[in-house]
Amino acid sequence: MKESKKIGINTTCVHVGEVKDEQFKGAVSPIYPATSYAFDGVDVKRYPRYFNTPNQEMLHKKIAALENTEDALIFGSGMAAISAALMAFLQKGDHVVIQQVIYGGTYNFIVSEFDKYGIEYSFTESDKVEDFTPLIKENTKVLYIETPSNPLLGITDIKAISSLAKEHKILTMIDNTFASPINQNPVDFGIDIILHSATKYMGGHSDISAGAIAASKEHIEHIWKTAINFGGNLSDQTVWLLERSLKTLNLRVKEQTKNAQKMAEFLEDNPDIDTVYYPGLKSHPQYKLAKKQMKGFGAMMSFELSEGIDAMKFQNNLQLIKPSMSLAGLESTTVSPVQTTHALLSEEERLARGIKDGLIRFSVGIEEPEDLIEDILQAIKKAKS
Ligand SMILES: *Cc1c(COP(=O)(O)O)cnc(C)c1O
Repeated sequence: MKESKKIGINTTCVHVGEVKDEQFKGAVSPIYPATSYAFDGVDVKRYPRYFNTPNQEMLHKKIAALENTEDALIFGSGMAAISAALMAFLQKGDHVVIQQVIYGGTYNFIVSEFDKYGIEYSFTESDKVEDFTPLIKENTKVLYIETPSNPLLGITDIKAISSLAKEHKILTMIDNTFASPINQNPVDFGIDIILHSATKYMGGHSDISAGAIAASKEHIEHIWKTAINFGGNLSDQTVWLLERSLKTLNLRVKEQTKNAQKMAEFLEDNPDIDTVYYPGLKSHPQYKLAKKQMKGFGAMMSFELSEGIDAMKFQNNLQLIKPSMSLAGLESTTVSPVQTTHALLSEEERLARGIKDGLIRFSVGIEEPEDLIEDILQAIKKAKS
C-alpha cells in the first residue's frame, strides 16, 4: 500500500491495521473471537474461514503495508499459504517451473500432490535464470522461486525471473520467508505473489504457527476463492499474537541482521571453519546480486566445520545456542542438515547439492554476538577433543 509507505517502517509495524478499541480506548487491538456475526444490512458475511473477522481483516492491512502490496491473506501455517497460492492458479494440464533448492515442505507438497491433480512440474538445475528459460513450455503457468534459499543461502535474481515470466505471461511466486519483508520486498522487482511462513521471522518468538500471502487485490481475491475451500485460516487469538509480534518485526530483524554480519565475519576468520555461506560476505558468489535486491542480508547463514570436528558433538556442546529444527526466533539456533532436513538423501545426492557432513545452518538471534562467539569457540574446542 503506497500510502503507508510514507510513514516509517516502525510506525507501520506498530500502527497499520490496528483494530481500534472504540468502547474502552485500550492501547492494543481487542480480540474478536466471534465465529458468528449479524448480517446487519451489510454484504460482508463475516466468518473465520472467510478470512474476514475483524482481527484477520486488519492484520491483512499490516502485512500488505510491510510487503508494499495492495492486499494480503493470513493462514494457519506457511504451507497452508503456499499450497493455497499454488492450487489457486494451477489446474489439470498446467505446468509449473520450480527452483531446485526450495523449502523441504514445499518440495514434498509438489512431488506428493501434483500428480494426483494432473499438474506437471519441472525443477531447475540451479537458481540461475538461464536454467529456468529452457523449462518453460506452452502450458507453464507459474515460476516459483525462493531466495535466499535453504540451507546454502543461494540468491536468485528476482528481477530477471520476473522479466522472464512477464515475457511469457507467466505468474511469479516467491517464498520470502528467509529475508522477511524487512530485508526484501519482491513486489518492487515485479514478483506477483509473495509467500511467507509467518512461523519464522513474522512470528519471531518460536510460539506461533502461521503463514501469509501478499499480492495485488486481484490476485488475493483469486487465491481467497480457493483458500475458503481449503480452510487454512488462523484462530483470532493467534492472529492477535501475530499482530503483536509484527510490532517489533523491524527491531528484531534489524538487530538479528546486524548480529549475523558480525557472526559471519567471525566465522569466516576462524581456522576451524572451512566455508561460510552468507550473502553479506564479499566471498559469497552472489554478494553483488544480494546487495542489489536485498535491503539487508538477513540473519540466516550456514557454515562448514573443518574435518575432524563432529557436527553433532559440536551442537551438543553448545550451551547458549539451541540445536533446533526451526529458525528465525529471537534465540539463536543451529541445525545439521545432514542429520535432519536432508537426512533422507543419499550421500551422493547430498554432496551433489553441496551439503557436507560438517555443515551447520545457523539462525542468528538477538543475543550479543560476543556471547554467541564465546559459545561457538568453547563448543568447537570440546568437539575437537
Ligand atoms: C518453515 C518454512 C516454510 C513452511 O512454513 P510452516 O509455517 O512450517 O508451514 C516455508 N518456507 C520456508 C523458507 C520455511 O522456512
